[in-house]
Amino acid sequence: MECTGKQDCMCDAHLEAEARENELARAGEKIAGQVSDYVNPMQTSFKYFVDGMSRQHRTLQQKFTGLCMAWLAHLATLEPGQYDGRNAASVALARCIRAAIIDREINTYLPTI
Ligand SMILES: [Zn+2]
Repeated sequence: MECTGKQDCMCDAHLEAEARENELARAGEKIAGQVSDYVNPMQTSFKYFVDGMSRQHRTLQQKFTGLCMAWLAHLATLEPGQYDGRNAASVALARCIRAAIIDREINTYLPTI
């Protein structure tokens, strides 16, 4: 099928891109659940995660930092009603970090080399 360039195009390239996006969505949802399971216990220690991540490839460490920054950026943009007392401190901290990044013109670009 020839590419129409439209959003509902059914050409091979668009179908492959849609399949990749769906796979990433499923993986992201699954990993978010696994991370939630990891942090859920009251006595959880982040030390083991940090130790494990510190042994990952440095490029992957950089990408993980990007993931953390994406999460903080998301939190910083939440509107009242999208958070409550359970995560208000996270939202406040994320906003402080965003403000500091803007105020100090900190470069948040994390290249993978
Ligand atoms: Zn197409």
